[in-house]
Amino acid sequence: MNRSFDADRHLLDLAGMSRERMELLLGRADHFARGGAVPRALDGVAVCNLFFEPSTRTRLSFQLAAQRLGAHVLGFDVSSSSASKGETDLDTLRTLEAMGVRGFVVRHREDGAVRALAGRAGADTVLVNAGDGRSAHPTQGLLDMLTLRQAKGPDLARLKVLVVGDVRHSRVARTDLDGLRTLGVEDIRVCAPAELLPEPEVLAGCEVVPGLDDAIRGVDVVMLLRLQRERMVEGLVRSLDGYHREYGLDARRLALAAPGAVVMHPGPVNRGVEVTDEVADGPHSLILRQVANGVAVRIAVLEALLGGPQAPHGVA
Ligand code: ASP
Repeated sequence: MNRSFDADRHLLDLAGMSRERMELLLGRADHFARGGAVPRALDGVAVCNLFFEPSTRTRLSFQLAAQRLGAHVLGFDVSSSSASKGETDLDTLRTLEAMGVRGFVVRHREDGAVRALAGRAGADTVLVNAGDGRSAHPTQGLLDMLTLRQAKGPDLARLKVLVVGDVRHSRVARTDLDGLRTLGVEDIRVCAPAELLPEPEVLAGCEVVPGLDDAIRGVDVVMLLRLQRERMVEGLVRSLDGYHREYGLDARRLALAAPGAVVMHPGPVNRGVEVTDEVADGPHSLILRQVANGVAVRIAVLEALLGGPQAPHGVA
């Protein structure tokens, strides 16, 4: 009973999500983040975390979110599964569908892999992209937008936002830029070594400012990115010390930003490379608030996609 591919049934990307839908999800997530009651909307629903790439925050917070909604949660460890015997991703999905699993939270090394699986999934199956290659990480984008709204108020349009680091290999950067543009942010600066800048389409509407001391002046938000060494061809960044000297955030540089500026990083943090301990653990850092909001956002997303027609913003 396969119906034609309906991308809105899944959450694959923030590109193309309407502002209205994004704000509804953020509003619901904010309610959960502030301790609002979580309904047992996924009572009896089976959800599998299908992670073909490592993860700490995303995997565990999806697990917690699904459990709080009352779902049966299955973990999938590539190294101890038949994927390690060569079973294809699609056969893995179909095997789990045959067991009655309806929701799949999927992380994959390859760009577009989650969309491709969604295109072959059964009619009632729902996929959530938990990060594919360099392409997208929609729940990270939503939790970053939620964190920004909590820190700076609901109207993000007047903010000056700086994205620093390995934009080229970062699905978080691509997704955050989509989120920021959708919510009306106009002053977006990007600072990165030339070899870590992405293809020009990714930077639509952004100003590239080469030196961090210049780029950071007067900004309200600094979004740091991890150096994605697992996705780099050798030699792109010659020395981590050199990277830190030019693109690392320390207290001196942070003092050049606007008063009350906030610092974000999706984790895992390479301490002493992208940011000093003093800043990562200091009063301007929202890093742990991002982690906390990750649970709230994932509750809102799973509720909307799998909670049936009674879910406040369900698509069912
Ligand atoms: N945890 C985020 C991701 O999976 C960021 C990172 O790994 O750098 O994309």
